[in-house]
Amino acid sequence: MKEPTLPLDEAQRQADMEALNLLDTGPDPRFDALLRLAQGVFGIRTVLVTLVDNERQWFKARRGTALSGSPRSLSFCGHAIHSDAIMEVPDALKDERFADNPLVTGQPHIRFYAGIALHAPGGSRVGTFCVLDDRPNALSVSQRQSMQDFALVLEAMFETSLLRVEQKQLLVELDGAKRRALLDPLTQLLNREGLEQMLPALESRAQRDALYVGFIYGDLDHFKQINDEHGHGVGDEVLVEVGQRLVAAIRPEDLAVRMGGEEFAVLALVKSHEQLDIVAERVRATMACPPFPVAELMLDVTISLGTAMAGSLEAMDALLLIDRADKALYQAKQAGRNRVVRG
Ligand code: GH3
Ligand code: MG
Ligand code: MG
Repeated sequence: MKEPTLPLDEAQRQADMEALNLLDTGPDPRFDALLRLAQGVFGIRTVLVTLVDNERQWFKARRGTALSGSPRSLSFCGHAIHSDAIMEVPDALKDERFADNPLVTGQPHIRFYAGIALHAPGGSRVGTFCVLDDRPNALSVSQRQSMQDFALVLEAMFETSLLRVEQKQLLVELDGAKRRALLDPLTQLLNREGLEQMLPALESRAQRDALYVGFIYGDLDHFKQINDEHGHGVGDEVLVEVGQRLVAAIRPEDLAVRMGGEEFAVLALVKSHEQLDIVAERVRATMACPPFPVAELMLDVTISLGTAMAGSLEAMDALLLIDRADKALYQAKQAGRNRVVRG
């Protein structure tokens, strides 16, 4: 028998696995639902979502077995997390790595194994999706594709879990009064102070996932006219709806900020400046159309936007970033408003 070796990135891998906050948690109906589907797709009774821990592998979700895990040294999955390729063992008794493995020679008498590594958002291989049988077997071409599809969905579920942990941590760290001090009372978006508080977490997420911090600076066009023509109260209602449209136009993990007055910002983690410009364009379009239904009026509201991206993943000067986006915004105003300019 061959025991699985430790991956080269074992310390990081273990940390990323623990950060998911899934280990030793209770059953999750979404994971269970997915595994029920998998039983049908693979025509196999035993299907697992495993997390590979220091000394053991633990089953986050399982169908067809009463076991909650097994020693890592005996695990098939300990081998599977060494590669992104599907690991398939058609007959464990004919495989020198597993032939005399107690899980093969004794209960649960594993003969067939197919598993695919599951990645944490940072890329570490933290566990597997796998199917097992007590008879020899082989995956069909379409089942191999399905393994990859299941892995993709499970990884998205891992990411959701991680995001939930991060957001909860941020909120727990702040008591009620402090939280209020970081929010703009009118729009309930973060204010400038809130933006500064959130920056370190955003930066570390950017580094972990090898993404850039993008900044979008927006300023409503001719907003003074709305106040002048319809009153400050109507202006306020417009600002509230601008905040709502802004949040709807970005991803949940991106930050929407009221920088002050009729100025707004978005912080988004992106792969490229193109991607950032797409977000900015979506924000522009969502304001321009349809008109804002406020106080029985239909008001046309547009926004000008400037975008800037942090130059390197390691060092980010937030003030410089904001300043670059602000300059681009100024150019957008000069060029005729209701547009996005890249800084
Ligand atoms: P531009 O396209 O050049 O940005 O024109 P603008 O009219 O939007 O810019 P300007 O800076 O001249 O006016 C901004 C206006 O925003 C003036 C101010 O009264 C209004 N404003 C700022 N904060 C608030 C607010 O909280 N509520 C309301 N109703 N209006 C606000
Ligand atoms: Mg302004
Ligand atoms: Mg303005």
